[in-house]
Amino acid sequence: MKVMKTIIEKIDKHHIDIQIMEKAGEILKKGGLVAFPTETVYGLGANALDEEAAKKTYAAKGRPSDNPLIVHIADVEALDAIAKHVSEKARRVIEKFWPGPLTLIFEKTDLVPFGTTGGLQTVAVRMPVDEIALALIRAGGGYVSAPSANTSGRPSPTTAAHVADDLDGKIEMILDGGSVDIGVESSILDMTVDPPMILRPGAITKEMLEEVIGEVAVDKTLLSDTSGEAPKAPGMKYRHYAPKAQLMIVEGDTVEAVKAIKQIAYEQTRLGYRVGIIATNETADFYTNGVVKNIGTRNNENSIAKNLYKVLREFDDEEVSYIYSEAFAEEGIGNAIMNRLDKAAGHHTIQAKDITRLQKYRRVLFVSNSDNCRGPMAAEILRHQSLLQEYQIGSRGMVVLFPEPANQKAEAIMRSHQMTLEDHEARALEESDLDDETLVLTFEEPQKWKIISEYQHVKNVYTLSEYIEDERTIYSAHGQPLVVYGENFELLRELLGKLADKLNEEAKRK
Ligand code: AMP
Ligand code: MG
Repeated sequence: MKVMKTIIEKIDKHHIDIQIMEKAGEILKKGGLVAFPTETVYGLGANALDEEAAKKTYAAKGRPSDNPLIVHIADVEALDAIAKHVSEKARRVIEKFWPGPLTLIFEKTDLVPFGTTGGLQTVAVRMPVDEIALALIRAGGGYVSAPSANTSGRPSPTTAAHVADDLDGKIEMILDGGSVDIGVESSILDMTVDPPMILRPGAITKEMLEEVIGEVAVDKTLLSDTSGEAPKAPGMKYRHYAPKAQLMIVEGDTVEAVKAIKQIAYEQTRLGYRVGIIATNETADFYTNGVVKNIGTRNNENSIAKNLYKVLREFDDEEVSYIYSEAFAEEGIGNAIMNRLDKAAGHHTIQAKDITRLQKYRRVLFVSNSDNCRGPMAAEILRHQSLLQEYQIGSRGMVVLFPEPANQKAEAIMRSHQMTLEDHEARALEESDLDDETLVLTFEEPQKWKIISEYQHVKNVYTLSEYIEDERTIYSAHGQPLVVYGENFELLRELLGKLADKLNEEAKRK
């Protein structure tokens, strides 16, 4: 395709520059292409009544020409010239939701070329709410076809910079109106059938529509990908919205999903892959491996919709090989989010439980008397072992009165082996440390029995020697000369090597 100079103009929604809009309108009237913001995503505008302009649109996007375009109008009165049989129900949804993120399908009039409708007898129409969009539609003659302004198959653009990334040099102009409000494409409702049918979920939900017109159906290909039927909106059949890396959705309750993603990210990172994680405000801090992106808050899924495509695009620049995403509630806009995410993932989902059940322990705690010598040494040495699974490794004491630092001789020995305990502060063992997922290892028998007799519901408490089936015991070096600390270190390193082997055996047995 011939490279052209793309003009980029900043537009302030509140003070729209008439001259720029006139210039943009002229480009459309002459059959050119202008990208512009709408409340959903950025659209690639062309004159909807011009067959040749439609061809240019498909070429610029690299979009299959059987995938019809949505015609955008600026006034409800413009509808009757392009749509036939606009029912009373349709009038009611228009009254309620236009201007807004709702596209309606009608039988088309002869005014609309087949180039715009991908050969269909029907036409998709929407009236956006965005002031810049409305001004451009009016300036361009009243009927502007506008698919999302991205290269076909890539995530839809939610900023002018995204548009430029994909279409610079391929279109005449980009109107930069900042970032969009909603972030996912409009809901599509087919008004040629009764009951009307949702062909693509968006910000206007089934529940909202049913309040106005009663029963609304949902294209069943949206509900499962197993029906084998083609979706009724031709565009919904393409792998769409997709980042370059393989995306996988991890389903299940949030706590379980975080554990599963942590587990996968640890293992993949260990194998040398760069991994991306789609997390939320509520979960982002839990991840210890991978490139973590916070997509928004679970308290307001609108924030997630708004960031979805931006985050998917950002991962393209991070050059990750895999992206793992938490799943979101399929209510309200959550439906639209999960629909887009599922398509971006090519329907690759896994159940969090199927991953998490493969890891028995997530935490290893070494328990000594005062948590200032053997315990912290053991924890730090284990952290330096090569482990197949991720463990939170720590130490606790049976009698800890204040958070004292590690013993100085222990620190001297650790330093001579390029390790340090300088961040250590002694901590007392608490009942909450004894959960299902924690392996508690004491150094001596009496410590083990003290824990078992002192707390209820004690699980997974062993002496280190017992757990690794080695009769040697590591005694406290307290008050002994430095060499004894050195001997303890050597023995600890040997026994912890065996512990690592045992944990790794368990990981492989999955
Ligand atoms: P986009 O332009 O990227 O928002 O995509 C437009 C969507 O609307 C695609 O999924 C199209 O298949 C769908 N669409 C447009 N016109 C029609 C129509 N006449 N019947 C059914 N779906 C349509
Ligand atoms: Mg699109």
